[in-house]
Amino acid sequence: MLPVNSGGHTAYQNFVVTNLRKYYPDPDSIPRATWDIIDRFWNLDLSYTDEKLKNKYSIFGPRPRTPSCMHRSYLLSIDFKVTSITDWSAQLKINPLYAILSGFEVGDTPGVGTFYDFFDRLWDSDEDNLSTHIHPIKPSIKKPSAKGAKAKPVEKISVEQLLQELENTSFSISEQPYGSLFDLFHREFLQQSVSKQLIHPDSLALAGDGTPFVTSARERKHRVCDCASKGINDCSCDRYFSQPDCDIGWDSSRSCFYHGYDLYMLVASDSESDLPVFPLLNPASRHDSHGFLHTFFRMKSFLPEFKISKLLLDSAHDGICPLNLP
Ligand SMILES: [Zn+2]
Repeated sequence: MLPVNSGGHTAYQNFVVTNLRKYYPDPDSIPRATWDIIDRFWNLDLSYTDEKLKNKYSIFGPRPRTPSCMHRSYLLSIDFKVTSITDWSAQLKINPLYAILSGFEVGDTPGVGTFYDFFDRLWDSDEDNLSTHIHPIKPSIKKPSAKGAKAKPVEKISVEQLLQELENTSFSISEQPYGSLFDLFHREFLQQSVSKQLIHPDSLALAGDGTPFVTSARERKHRVCDCASKGINDCSCDRYFSQPDCDIGWDSSRSCFYHGYDLYMLVASDSESDLPVFPLLNPASRHDSHGFLHTFFRMKSFLPEFKISKLLLDSAHDGICPLNLP
């Protein structure tokens, strides 16, 4: 069956009121900090998630969990700092508050597999990764000599070459595996900030920076060639990487190497708390100057209504002349 949410966000709000009264008749039994979270989710209308994902469900079989409740539940797990889906689905079973705030009946909450099925529906590709598992070994990042310094770029092309290349590339959001995910962010978060006049799309002051995003303690890769059996141990043949979109980067604030992504985030620097405008996951080794350009040109294509009046970037971006940007 297709998911149904006939009452939209109002149905969720009514559900929360009814069930909080039933399970928590004394409001003082809920801590202040938790009320802040309740308040935030009370105002967060995720009903577009139901509309957006409707055609990703089969018309056969039992009625699925309401997509907006799955979406909300996952966001709640982040607010309640439960970082594993296994722990979160266990918490939903034993903590009525988590079930109610998600929009699930107490005692009838989704298991781990339902969460992973939901994540699959958010990703518009049959492939789990953007790059292929088998690819060449990348040049490794060198540890910078000065403390707190950023690592030198290992990119094969210069900032100028990349700028030229990106200027001549057209990006279409419908071709990106994260297209649906971006659409949800755009409609349910970004447009809300615009309609509340927290972000001004006609004259945007944009700031950008990269943040280390660790995915595993070490890089997992293995050989697919037979050089080792011939006694050649230092061959440069392609390897199989288990997380092919990730690699090793240098975390300059903690002075250590890490494996994962560089999360490049463009934020509205003139908004109250630097509200996010456009995020992009880059490989960890990507230098900020390159990360910025990859993120900036995609943002320009996906958010054509945003006109940038100011750009705030740190010294790692020195190679970029803002005057050359479109
Ligand atoms: Zn080899």
